[in-house]
Amino acid sequence: MTINQVINKIKENDPKADTTLLELAYEFAQKAHGGQKRKSGEFYIQHCLHTAFVLVQMKTDLNTVIAGLLHDIPEDTEYTLDEIRKNFGDEVADLVEGITKLSKLKYRGIERYRESLRKMFLAMARDLRVILIKFSDRLHNLRTLDALPEEKRKRIARETLEIYAPIAGLLGIWRLKWQMEDICFKYLYPDEFKKLEYKYEVEKKLERNQYIQKIKNILGQKLNQADIKYKIEGRFKHLYSIYQKMQQKDRKFDEIHDVFALRIIVPTIADCYKTLGIIHSLWKPKTSRFKDYIAMPKPNGYRSLHTTVFGPEGKASEFQIRTAEMNEEAMYGIAAHWYYKQKDGSYEDGLNQPRWIKEILKIQRDAETTSDFITQIKFDVFRNRIFVFSPKGDVFDLPDGATPIDFAYAVHTDIGNHATGALINDKIATLDHELKNGDLVEIIIDKKRKGPNYDWLKFVKTNKARNKIKQYSRNSRFESIKRLIPGI
Ligand code: MN
Repeated sequence: MTINQVINKIKENDPKADTTLLELAYEFAQKAHGGQKRKSGEFYIQHCLHTAFVLVQMKTDLNTVIAGLLHDIPEDTEYTLDEIRKNFGDEVADLVEGITKLSKLKYRGIERYRESLRKMFLAMARDLRVILIKFSDRLHNLRTLDALPEEKRKRIARETLEIYAPIAGLLGIWRLKWQMEDICFKYLYPDEFKKLEYKYEVEKKLERNQYIQKIKNILGQKLNQADIKYKIEGRFKHLYSIYQKMQQKDRKFDEIHDVFALRIIVPTIADCYKTLGIIHSLWKPKTSRFKDYIAMPKPNGYRSLHTTVFGPEGKASEFQIRTAEMNEEAMYGIAAHWYYKQKDGSYEDGLNQPRWIKEILKIQRDAETTSDFITQIKFDVFRNRIFVFSPKGDVFDLPDGATPIDFAYAVHTDIGNHATGALINDKIATLDHELKNGDLVEIIIDKKRKGPNYDWLKFVKTNKARNKIKQYSRNSRFESIKRLIPGI
């Protein structure tokens, strides 16, 4: 990566951009980091350039890109924040300071998780751009994880999956969320990753491409007749999301029906609806899967039409229909939102922020204490999921309302089958106790226990726990029948 690549990318977005200060920042960063090298053997400046480049891809403003170039200077070099302030002004210096504060974490285990989450939200409420720089920094760190020892690799991957990826999703920066998740998936669950990658990238690729080509031909002809300019992309489903769906619904790869996914980009909103009409006239829609996020955008501002139809050969095919602007917003979320507002001059501070950002700011204003603030924010951010910890420090992602039994089966079937009690944050709790985000859960097991209690089905939340309990009692009933009627 060179500074010219960064500059060229900026000029692609804005040919008139003045990049003088950015070039000075590059010289400064190069001088400051000098001959420093990363664990990967690359010169340190490469990390700074990659961080800046991802920010340009997100179309952030120039000061954010500059802060991205300079983000590690106060911590890793002899130069200070004051020098950055003197040379590049308050705005850049405040951004760099925000990043420096974020990276200083004192605690280990759960405390570290809570501290990190708290810092992310505080930084976000102060200036969202700090988080964007942190994301870009993290993405490059993930891409060079191979150079780190195994334990550190896993810690960084886990932290990213638990904290960074959900926040990126909240901000609507899907592209970054997916990129981060797939890298973490690879390091945390290498076997599952390899299996899925093989299935998706090798076995199914040809079939998928041929099928998508068929749809493109049929649909393209109709869109031409209707005089709609269009772009059709075969959409890459990222592996971690397929994996998660398989986990949640306990299904096999072939049953994840939206593996055939296409995205159609058209010039105007009217074209979006016309295109939808054309698709529905060609193939029978699955009505339960139609979503109009243009008329009713998601809380984070996401807009698109979604529909699933029974395409050629009756195969379920998922379409997303949107304009180019919506597409940018979907990939870069809040960052793209700023970019478009700046461009058409309608940006007024605060007025165009999505509702939930205003909510975060409001919660922060109203909260009496920091811990109030975090409790309320957590409730919103991780609305449908909680993270709980095993005594070893492993983290498990469970649905809201999950119980120690769900946790036990998430750890291992044997632990679920032999569970007799639970300690939550070192206190005795019942097996139907509702777990909360950040709980430390220890399952007490009784090796002599014969199997799960059928009554657990009344309160478990995960399919995994439910299926295992049912499966066990089916098997044991069969065993007792076998004892009564020998020979079956
Ligand atoms: Mn860094």
